Amino acid sequence: MKLKVLVVAGDGIGPEVTNEAVRVLRSVAEMGGHDFEIREALIGGVAIKKEGTPLPDSTLKLALESDAVLLGAVGGNEFNSLPPNKRPEAGLLQLRKALGGFANLRPSFAWPALAQNSPLKAEVVTGTDILFVRELLGGLYFGEPRVWDQEAGAAWNTMRYTRDEVIRVARVAFELAQARRKKLTSVDKANVLEVSQLWRATVTELAAQYPDVTLEHQYVDACAMHLMNTPRNFDVVLTENLFGDILSDEAAVITGSLGMLPSATIGGGVNLYEPVHGSAPDIAGKGIANPLGAILTAAMVLRHSAKLEEDAQAVETAVRTVLEQGYRTADLVRGQQGVSTQQMGNQVHQVLSELIDRRQAMHAV
Ligand code: NAD
Repeated sequence: MKLKVLVVAGDGIGPEVTNEAVRVLRSVAEMGGHDFEIREALIGGVAIKKEGTPLPDSTLKLALESDAVLLGAVGGNEFNSLPPNKRPEAGLLQLRKALGGFANLRPSFAWPALAQNSPLKAEVVTGTDILFVRELLGGLYFGEPRVWDQEAGAAWNTMRYTRDEVIRVARVAFELAQARRKKLTSVDKANVLEVSQLWRATVTELAAQYPDVTLEHQYVDACAMHLMNTPRNFDVVLTENLFGDILSDEAAVITGSLGMLPSATIGGGVNLYEPVHGSAPDIAGKGIANPLGAILTAAMVLRHSAKLEEDAQAVETAVRTVLEQGYRTADLVRGQQGVSTQQMGNQVHQVLSELIDRRQAMHAV
């Protein structure tokens, strides 16, 4: 298997956590005999300092030549006085746009060993395994016209979707559901919005092509409630941009720490992978950031770009195992001293190597 990965570690804890994610990719490549070409480039504040821009042309060029881009995080307090289009975050927005991904995947998984970390009751979250598929390039965030008419004291945005935009993201969701527990919940507000009626009609029509997937529709307000009451009932959740932004953040509480959450944006020319958290300036440089969100993001690279499902699962099993062994970074023990970023990475690395070794020995028999 050959894969070109561009690593843009960025700012703050970005390089610290990305380092551990890259170690995982390298060891999967080495142990499996895969040819992963891993290159590095600048983005965000570090790129502003060295090149005067948050997304240098050289980075964009390398990104567009890759199969996958793995990002750490961007941003830092020292850049907060810059205008928004000059800040580190602008580089990430430009990169996302250039790569063209329209399906944002965000898993929300209740790790058994962390059931007590969620603000929800352990018996409610236990067994939860949700994959959000959020449409990322359409809807209210991009629709025109968008106006703030100061004189009139009025402002408006436009929520617009075409049938084709719904079909392409819904296909991604149906296919992912086929590979999971075969249930798809499409979320809309079809009792009020025409755009949601189009969404619902299109998804319903497409469902005929996926007879093995059970499709249900939920209104977004009801879905927000069900996610907190009965999160176990969801498998894949498909929704438009704004609803997905809100619901996937809501469901993030199930996991119990921002440091545990991976994401992937697929469907464009090049897939973009990033942990959900930011650059965490309050803990940057201390070596205490949780690398598991970044490591789980590497698992998504293996699943969605390298198509190495067994290895992706091995990384997830390694994370589950180290948590069960009691390893915790500070964010998982509410401010008490935890293991360092590197210690957590080392442990995942060791368990992963053992898992892959064992699997290879079994295949060899
Ligand atoms: P943040 O995610 O950086 O941090 C929020 C809180 O969670 C902090 O207390 C932080 O210490 C903690 N945290 C985050 N990730 C952690 C990890 N892996 N391990 C342990 N603790 C972790 O969000 P913020 O404070 O709102 O933003 C800080 C900077 O990051 C800002 O400049 C913001 O614009 C930027 N940001 C970037 C991205 C991105 O690059 N994708 C996303 C969000 C925020």
